[in-house]
Amino acid sequence: MINIALIAHDGKKPEMVSFVMRNKDFLIKTKIYATGTTGSHIEKEGFKVEKLLSGPKGGDAQIAALLATGDVDIVIFFRDPLDKHPHEPDVQMLMRLCDVHNIPLATNPASGNFILQGIALHLQSEKV
Ligand code: PGA
Repeated sequence: MINIALIAHDGKKPEMVSFVMRNKDFLIKTKIYATGTTGSHIEKEGFKVEKLLSGPKGGDAQIAALLATGDVDIVIFFRDPLDKHPHEPDVQMLMRLCDVHNIPLATNPASGNFILQGIALHLQSEKV
């Protein structure tokens, strides 16, 4: 099973909800981790979500720890580049660890869609 982490800053939560609905067929088969408030939004759309702390309270850091130990395979993190965030150091740390551990990271819906499509194709070709 694929473990995926979903995070969206406040200004990007509507885009995250659209993203999960667009990719519902794929995401329903994955284990979803999410920061607290993002997770609540996703749950409302009918997904089962392992919710962590809210981002500013350490949720991003929890996801970073999970990916460092191999428990998260993909990170979809819709950051809001037009807003300031008190937990910016955690955001940087999470993105750095994605690069350290070669974890696919999408920071906007366009790249997120490509990553999910790519993985779906890869899984299909493995079945053949
Ligand atoms: P949230 O955290 O889902 O709890 O809002 C996201 C973030 O700001 O990193």
